[in-house]
Amino acid sequence: MATTDVLSEIRAAYARIGIELGAPVAYGTYYRLRCAGCGGTVGNVGDRLLPGMIDALLDDSFDLYAAGLLGCACGHQAARAEALDAPRAAAARARLT
Ligand SMILES: [Zn+2]
Repeated sequence: MATTDVLSEIRAAYARIGIELGAPVAYGTYYRLRCAGCGGTVGNVGDRLLPGMIDALLDDSFDLYAAGLLGCACGHQAARAEALDAPRAAAARARLT
């Protein structure tokens, strides 16, 4: 799978949790992550991932996003997590906060 396919996979996976990929940094190897709610920077992601890896990665992080421990301080990712899977989000908040 070409890098562009992995990149669109990464883009789609982050879009579900309310994060947009910004401009490439570090010679196109890393992309800035922006909050889709307020535009704030929430980190970077590398494009050197294997196909399918980003979905597993973000699934692992779901509870942290849901509890507001990952993502933007404005709460957009927590709201997205709630919309995606309310029971899992509620369980994560109860366990982690
Ligand atoms: Zn935000």
